[in-house]
Amino acid sequence: MVPEKIYFILLITEFILAGIVFASLFFIRAPYGRHVRSGWGPRIPARYAWIAMEFPAILVIALIFVIYRETASILSLVFLGMWELHYLYRTFAYPLLMRGGDKGFPALIAFFAFIFNIINGYINGMYLFKLADPVSASWFYDPRFIIGALLFLSGLIIHVHSDHVLRTLRKPGETDYRIPDRGLHRYVSSPNYFGEIVEWTGWAVATWSLPGLVFSLFTTANLLPRARTHHAWYVAEFREYPPERKAVIPFIY
Ligand code: NDP
Repeated sequence: MVPEKIYFILLITEFILAGIVFASLFFIRAPYGRHVRSGWGPRIPARYAWIAMEFPAILVIALIFVIYRETASILSLVFLGMWELHYLYRTFAYPLLMRGGDKGFPALIAFFAFIFNIINGYINGMYLFKLADPVSASWFYDPRFIIGALLFLSGLIIHVHSDHVLRTLRKPGETDYRIPDRGLHRYVSSPNYFGEIVEWTGWAVATWSLPGLVFSLFTTANLLPRARTHHAWYVAEFREYPPERKAVIPFIY
């Protein structure tokens, strides 16, 4: 099958998956972390699960870049750099820094994420480095690139900072849950998810691409219902949980 055809099929697949994931997560709690439970098959240590399932996101897009490097521009390098910055953090820094007793991560969920990262890396890489019309360096001055890159960067900062706040609620070896109250945690229960949604929305705007849009839709579809579940968990678990705090979008939801 020609790469263009594979690209198109996978693009549609990811779009459909976004709808399925969004609908399912209103009925099923993603079974890891505080929501881990039996009935989801064998589990692997969470640290290894994160590294294994996120690694294709680093690899696939980098391979596509190398394959089509002849036509690469400085702009392609910037997009590759933005993508890899996020995924190097997610694949290595985040799991290696994690704290808390490892409850295990369902291998099935890690497998789904692994496949998703292959699909998503493929469609974004193929579009940017092979299929898109060549874009000149003047794109750096286009408001879409500037706004998108700023959103991406601010989302990444919120995301990494919020992960840090959560991590430092526990001393090494501790496993319990506390109410986070620093940074954007003062406004929402899941600012780490909010940061990630902002990041990939920024990516979609900066790349002005269909795969970017589909990825940002998928991220939102995946994280909004998870944040809703986390929020309900906090409210049920802590009587003193701040009532004004929203689930994921400050002041709104
Ligand atoms: P969570 O917010 O559920 O947990 C993140 C970490 O913080 C875990 O180690 C968790 O421990 C710990 N933690 C969370 N809340 C507390 C608390 N109240 N007190 C003490 N420790 C706490 O995030 P996820 O595990 O779902 O996701 C991790 C990262 O991956 C996030 O940054 C998220 O944005 C990203 N992600 C991205 C997705 C996407 O579609 N792009 C999908 C899923 C995640 P424990 O494991 O013990 O609960």
